[in-house]
Amino acid sequence: MRAAVDARACMGHALCHFVAPDVYDLDELGHVVPPGPIPAARQRDAEEGAAACPERAISVVAD
Ligand code: SF4
Repeated sequence: MRAAVDARACMGHALCHFVAPDVYDLDELGHVVPPGPIPAARQRDAEEGAAACPERAISVVAD
């Protein structure tokens, strides 16, 4: 699976990183860096991090 990021929607709240630091890194401005392929073991973290985004900027989708 992977996480699609809408860079225009990301406002740098950093909640995705706070909830799932092993999936979502932030750049120097605090915006999420689109992660690479997400292993199945991280699916729940990825979904919880996406759900924490108040801008709904992250969508976790199957490959
Ligand atoms: S994806 Fe959402 S929670 Fe993560 S940094 Fe961007 S706005 Fe914040």
